[in-house]
Amino acid sequence: MKRRHFFKMMGVGAASLGISAPLVYSISKTKHGELIRAPQDYGGFVVERLDDGRLPYAIEPKTIKPFSWKKNVFGRNDWDPTRADRPRPDMIQKRLIDGKGKIPNQSRLNYALSRASWNMARPRHGDPYLWDSSPIVKRFDRDAMGPWDPADIEMNWSEATLAVKHAGMFFGASLAGAARANPLWFYNPAFSPTADDPGREVPILNEGDRLERTERAWYVPRSLNRVLVLAFEEDFWGIANSPGQLASAAVGDGYSRMAVTASTLAEFIRGLGYLALPAGNEVGLSIPMAIDAGLGEIGRNGLLITPKYGPRVRLAKVLTDMPLEPDRPIAFGVTEFCESCMLCADECPSKSIPKGSRDWKGNSVSNNPGAFKWYIEPESCYDFNDFSCSNCKRVCPFTKPNNSWLHKIVRTVIDRRVTALNTAMVKLDQAGNYGQQVQDTEFWSQDGSKTITGRESM
Ligand code: SF4
Ligand code: SF4
Repeated sequence: MKRRHFFKMMGVGAASLGISAPLVYSISKTKHGELIRAPQDYGGFVVERLDDGRLPYAIEPKTIKPFSWKKNVFGRNDWDPTRADRPRPDMIQKRLIDGKGKIPNQSRLNYALSRASWNMARPRHGDPYLWDSSPIVKRFDRDAMGPWDPADIEMNWSEATLAVKHAGMFFGASLAGAARANPLWFYNPAFSPTADDPGREVPILNEGDRLERTERAWYVPRSLNRVLVLAFEEDFWGIANSPGQLASAAVGDGYSRMAVTASTLAEFIRGLGYLALPAGNEVGLSIPMAIDAGLGEIGRNGLLITPKYGPRVRLAKVLTDMPLEPDRPIAFGVTEFCESCMLCADECPSKSIPKGSRDWKGNSVSNNPGAFKWYIEPESCYDFNDFSCSNCKRVCPFTKPNNSWLHKIVRTVIDRRVTALNTAMVKLDQAGNYGQQVQDTEFWSQDGSKTITGRESM
């Protein structure tokens, strides 16, 4: 039975499932088209859709022609003497440096955010995860202005930590948490392949404040004792298509957003005068860092399970010497639920997820023994279906939209730790056909109200 048929039978509509039905109301015909209301697309506005070829602007055909790009004011600032030679006050000097970063609304905290926000719009070179400041941020980074003191704008470190996490969300993260950086979770040695030596490793050395990758070694100072972990929600409908190609699209999109956000947040931190080393999967193990930072627990599927998105997240991190206040780890019943639930193991097409109890070691060189957890088989997982599988996220009861009635019941039981009911909840979850694969046709039809694309987050 299809999910929507199941809920129809149960008398539960798409709205209570949290799946927003496309809504376009036609109010009346007009001279040039139709008056419509589509709250998803146009907010509260009633709009007239122009169906007769008319455009909401006027042009003079004898006068207007394609515009010379060079005349765009951005370009003219460089080549047109009337622009290039104009007096240009050095606002960074005046507002930020001379004002010692304390001028209201022009503070160093604000400057760090605004200059870092251009990070990917003006890329410097190939690797997004750079370890040093861009030229613009160099003007007010650690070497230029020393480390920022939140007391400059009457903040304490607790508020400053919140501000940095806020910046992470501003730059695109769905969740952000801070932790003390546990050296156990850093990779060591570093993997630094070359064309001649694809398996090359280099040592990680600590030399004062030196933060640099060289041919011989990676220099990572011990002062990088904090980590900001960022989680990025993967598209619900994309993951729901697993093992279809759209799940791979959701994963790839997560990786791209990781690179933009982590590297930009690192620029922000450098602008505040602290060292920052951004990384996706590199540099260290993201999942234990995320658990330390209070973002979730580990599940049977070997993934981080977050309260809000379940395992449907990707992770990036920024290591820093900024004295951020660590978040506390959380527990919300994942381990207990996974003991009863076997959905990911049952639905894993490569049989990579164990059905037994947790263990202290796995069977692969790619498993890191010494933690009590479920060890998956990374090789068979990686090799399945050209890496486009996300079944273990798709079927996980924690993955579902937050606002569905069924999910709320499941979560209430989990919250109350009524472990005896966990098995019943798994069956109820299955009865709702929640973990079924969503076909690509359904994915593409989820967007908006067929007027413009206004996809809402789940
Ligand atoms: S991604 Fe697919 S193959 Fe890999 S563990 Fe999850 S369900 Fe199994
Ligand atoms: S599918 Fe079930 S067993 Fe697997 S991670 Fe999710 S809750 Fe745990």
